[in-house]
Amino acid sequence: MARRHAEPPPPPADSFERLIAELERLPGVGRRSAERIAYHLLEASRDEALALALAIRDMKSKLRPCRECGNLTETETCALCRDPRRDASVLCVVEWPREIRAIEKSGEFRGRYHVLMGRLSPLAGVGPEDLRVAPLLERVRAGGVAEIVLATSPTMEGDATAAFLTQKLHALAPKLRITRLARGMPAGSDLSFAQAGTIGEAFKGRREMP
Ligand SMILES: [Zn+2]
Repeated sequence: MARRHAEPPPPPADSFERLIAELERLPGVGRRSAERIAYHLLEASRDEALALALAIRDMKSKLRPCRECGNLTETETCALCRDPRRDASVLCVVEWPREIRAIEKSGEFRGRYHVLMGRLSPLAGVGPEDLRVAPLLERVRAGGVAEIVLATSPTMEGDATAAFLTQKLHALAPKLRITRLARGMPAGSDLSFAQAGTIGEAFKGRREMP
């Protein structure tokens, strides 16, 4: 426990060793893979290797939250919010932008999204004011929304977040239909790890919140 909070060791001075150390920090990349990737980049042309560095730099500098839904975009509003073929009367509430990707792959949902940027977590000190709850209420208040699909994760915190939002939304708009994705998703994980078919089934079987 004490070790985890200790100061990280200074990066190795040698740039090749530094690259390996950075790659090794990525999820799913062990020491051997990090070395293999580093050697690949070392042997690649300068342009090819720098393309990776530039893609990372651009992603970090250009992506920002969509003004409307909170999805990541390089423009003021994201492509999904700008698409007139999407049903603006149904909003699917997710925790993170990566879940939008997963739901889109399922092809089952044709409405719009709202990203909370997390879920309620008293233990981690995450309260409603830390999430994009107020913008969600604002969108409902603005009118035109008939259904909210709560797609927060099938975890205790995700359930608590869904219950909290249901209470807030019902108080604001008593006629609003509020649904929750059907069970059957791998418990304890978030949507982005679920199979497209599983997500599709969960949408079809969505139920009204009590
Ligand atoms: Zn958007």
